[in-house]
Amino acid sequence: MSGRYSEHDHEHYERPRRRTRPRTKERPRYDDAQDGVVVTVDRGRFTLVVDGTRVLAMKSRPLGRKGVVVGDRVRVVGDTSGSEGALARIVEVAERETVLRRTADDDDPVERIIVANATQLAVVTALADPEPRPGLIDRALVAAYDAGLQPLLCLTKADLAAPDTLLATYRSLGVPWVVTRRGGDLAELRERLAGRVSVLVGHSGVGKSTLVNALVPEAHRDVGLVNAVTGRGRHTSTSALMLALPGGGFIVDTPGIRSFGLAHVRPEHLIEAFPDLDEMTEDCPRGCTHGADEPECGLDQAVLEGQADPDRVTSFRRLLAARYAAY
Ligand code: ZN
Repeated sequence: MSGRYSEHDHEHYERPRRRTRPRTKERPRYDDAQDGVVVTVDRGRFTLVVDGTRVLAMKSRPLGRKGVVVGDRVRVVGDTSGSEGALARIVEVAERETVLRRTADDDDPVERIIVANATQLAVVTALADPEPRPGLIDRALVAAYDAGLQPLLCLTKADLAAPDTLLATYRSLGVPWVVTRRGGDLAELRERLAGRVSVLVGHSGVGKSTLVNALVPEAHRDVGLVNAVTGRGRHTSTSALMLALPGGGFIVDTPGIRSFGLAHVRPEHLIEAFPDLDEMTEDCPRGCTHGADEPECGLDQAVLEGQADPDRVTSFRRLLAARYAAY
């Protein structure tokens, strides 16, 4: 590793950044840096994919306490050979396009970023064994809408129960869905995932691991360099693990995530995910959350006037309430 970066690092990172600033203008200082993406994080060590090679890296000092999370697009210098013992340095983290967050529970003010730059949140739910829990699905949907991710309902074990009842709950929200059965064909799911960065969330027993292994056949041994270094047999951190799909795109498995704390979600922000409903709230009193108990909400007026689908308003309000519901 060369020392020539250290003298530049400080002024480079203390300079305020503007969103619109073209990144290329910053690049010459690290002109031999390579682009990479973070695929897993474990105890301050990062596994990146750089040019198709898995590379172990640490943060460079000038990044300070700036977090680096799975999905981050980074610039990296140093030994990117991926050979044993090689350690590269992350010198820059690109502006994130999306950020999927959670809080450990609703009273926990500490929010954690699960994944950066994802485009879709696939909520994996079994149709039976275990029974679906709409409250949990609602909470995951709220997290998706809040983060600007396209939600996808992935309903497994359709050989045990029909999806109709559950789908009826989400139809008016327009949530896309795909149904799989045990041992069945995954063509439709693959199509939904192709070319996207999809985070898969789901409780134990719903078949998420089975899906991951079917979608990425080498997933079970693709646990990252981190574990080769620490000697641990499997990915045990609560963070996420990003895997490339054979046909393009990525899935992010979230083995340690069992619940979505939503303390970070601002209720008044949720409606922005539903532009047609948002339009009808222009005359709402200041501070209106658009919930069912608001006295003068424009959504009620819109339903009365036949401009809004009552089912859609009810479903939106159910999501809004899920922000506060116990889980
Ligand atoms: Zn309102």
